[in-house]
Amino acid sequence: MGHGIKCIGMLTSGGDAPGMNAAIRSVTRAAIFNNIRVKAIYRGYKGLITGEIKEFQTQNVSNIIQQGGTILKSARCAEFRTPEGRQLAYENLVKEEIDALVVIGGDGTFTGARLFSQEYDVPIVGLPGTIDNDLFGTDSTIGYDTALNTIIDAVDKIRDTASSHERLFFIEVMGRDAGFLALNSALASGAEAAIIPERETKVDQLEELIKNGFRKSKNSSIVIVSESEVTGGANGLAERMRREHPEYDVRVSILGHIQRGGSPTAYDRIIASRMGVAAIDALMDGLRNIMIGIVNNEIVHVPLAKAIKDDKPVNEQLLGVVQILSI
Ligand code: ATP
Repeated sequence: MGHGIKCIGMLTSGGDAPGMNAAIRSVTRAAIFNNIRVKAIYRGYKGLITGEIKEFQTQNVSNIIQQGGTILKSARCAEFRTPEGRQLAYENLVKEEIDALVVIGGDGTFTGARLFSQEYDVPIVGLPGTIDNDLFGTDSTIGYDTALNTIIDAVDKIRDTASSHERLFFIEVMGRDAGFLALNSALASGAEAAIIPERETKVDQLEELIKNGFRKSKNSSIVIVSESEVTGGANGLAERMRREHPEYDVRVSILGHIQRGGSPTAYDRIIASRMGVAAIDALMDGLRNIMIGIVNNEIVHVPLAKAIKDDKPVNEQLLGVVQILSI
């Protein structure tokens, strides 16, 4: 074997996302297909430090492609942020004869991976697993499409009650400091507006909406709000609205953790499956410290440093589309 990789370790870390199981399945089967052994590491970096590691066969990933969450569990691990923690992790890699790692997670996971590979010269490939879609170098992250669909399903239901009572609803969605979920769910659910952190740093979006008379011809309105501190969240905006415009009958709905759950969509299963195979291909080709992405339907390799540091801009022009369609 020219690439010298006989055994890989695989973990999921940070916030869980639907489609992680499809990625685990794909990584496992692609490795075994190429005669590479697979060791599953439980609870993210925590399991690497405590040695919670089990060898997987192809049957270990049977019947999981449709399941949300991650069968490997996920955890936040403060110890991995310390040199001592990472040394323990490395000792376990050596003990388990793991030559390379595939890590599935978000930018925190990749930051830890990058540091670890610099310190111990371990080849690492990352797969973007987060509902927030906030990683540079891939059109979509694993879990984003499912979360988007969960959100629009919920918004459709809220619309029924909003229009019966002629109310203004602020619906808060996840996304950390990125507006992808808010903006695209607003488009897909026919919401009257989206309030996203990227634009809020430039203008007062609520004031803008009121000035534009966003509720003129409607008997109900739905505004999707990113959870970020920059926007003030749905509660912050509702409070302001009640203070400044008491004529509106304002309600708040915070969608919360339902956005993380559920069976992954076809799209998330497909990208997770493609990315898992691409991760093993990349390791066999001698690539290291990269994230697998999909751009314009093609697999791409993005240096971890870029995936973490570079900004992935939302398409703010889509706010204009939402506005046009809300008249
Ligand atoms: P999501 O964005 O979906 O929540 P994430 O991967 O960004 O996912 P984090 O909790 O930020 O989630 O990071 C996951 C884990 O990665 C942390 O618990 C920690 O173990 C490790 N990690 C994060 N940042 C660092 C760092 N600077 N140094 C070492 N390890 C880190």
